[in-house]
Amino acid sequence: MVKINDNFLKLPGNYLFSEIAKKVSIFEKSHKESRLIRLGIGDVTLPIAPAVIEAVHKAVDEMGRKEGFHGYAPDLGYEFLRNVIAEKDYKARNCQINADEIFISDGAKSNSGNIQEIFSIENKIAVCDPVYPVYVDTNVMAGRAGIYQKETERWSDVIYLPCREDNHFIPELPKEAPDLIYLCFPNNPTGSAITKNELQIWVNYANKTGAVIIYDAAYEAYITEEEIPHSIYECEGAQTCAIELKSFSKNAGFTGMRLGYTVIPKELVRGGVALHSLWARRHGTKYNGAPYIIQRAGEAVYTEKGEEQIKKQIAYYMRNANVILEGLKNIGFKVSGGVNAPYIWLKTPDQMTSWQFFDFLLEKANVVGTPGSGFGPGGEGYFRLTGFGTYENTVEAVERIKRSF
Ligand code: PLP
Repeated sequence: MVKINDNFLKLPGNYLFSEIAKKVSIFEKSHKESRLIRLGIGDVTLPIAPAVIEAVHKAVDEMGRKEGFHGYAPDLGYEFLRNVIAEKDYKARNCQINADEIFISDGAKSNSGNIQEIFSIENKIAVCDPVYPVYVDTNVMAGRAGIYQKETERWSDVIYLPCREDNHFIPELPKEAPDLIYLCFPNNPTGSAITKNELQIWVNYANKTGAVIIYDAAYEAYITEEEIPHSIYECEGAQTCAIELKSFSKNAGFTGMRLGYTVIPKELVRGGVALHSLWARRHGTKYNGAPYIIQRAGEAVYTEKGEEQIKKQIAYYMRNANVILEGLKNIGFKVSGGVNAPYIWLKTPDQMTSWQFFDFLLEKANVVGTPGSGFGPGGEGYFRLTGFGTYENTVEAVERIKRSF
């Protein structure tokens, strides 16, 4: 008789976004006259840039001709894309990353979920708290997180790295030494960004202890401040302790097209083995590669036209984020983020829990946001709003929130 992987059963309750959808659906059924504004979305909303669409059309046409047809993609991705990434995302920033250290994939969600497979089940993980829930959930599924403690909403074998107001949402080094450290900056959900000096401390620590940092830079394109690194490889010594995850979703709108990449420097060796070779083996065995058409689309993101069009989209989302940030500050909310990320992180007023504030905003302002507690125990008492809506809706939502107090 087959046995299931009962680690899956340890995952508590519903996924955050299905719980939100359920509440919103109930509200809409009983308030048919109200127009909801969704300011909690983590998905982009602007259409794909014309330069990228042009590349897609061209690649589609190629695929329909005998001489332009492409079958299975190379395991690590097409060279034309890996070369341009190495050039523009790394060499241009003085990072010593070569094209053959880049693995093209279908996005950062699968990479951040799957990368733990090349590490032993005995490793202890550390995560920012709060953070994108995929890191913890996939370690739970793998059986690496221990037991869920309902009272504290924590996993017994996970080291939580508190990101609080008093540390500006940047974690300090932990007392207990982790093996795998997940860092996500600019951070989802807090919108906080780590400076190069602060990140260097983590790199030095990992090199000293033998830990590996998994650095999720999915929101890198939103960085506006000079002292914030765009890649962990801007820090000295990161080649020997860090894996970097990148996505085309939030910068270029590929959430529905699917494209991302992982960087594993060849110098990153643990237990006498280059992690690059393990991930290459996994890629070859378990992954079919992002489609040729999508990789050509990714290449177009780096063209002059592509870069120019995409910059405007990012500016659009960041203007929205600024509307929320300034609007809420003006009515006395404690808010952060919104400068190097499209996320605004606010402290709930009157000591409301995250879900109480969710209900309050839904009822009083007809605005949907995301309860902070969905991103880990450290998110309780906080709430996430995002700049991914339309400008008009964002302005109106802030007005409605003002009127609710
Ligand atoms: N990493 C972080 C921190 C995210 O917030 C998200 C999506 O919200 C992802 C990765 C997913 O990226 P992708 O669309 O490339 O799978």
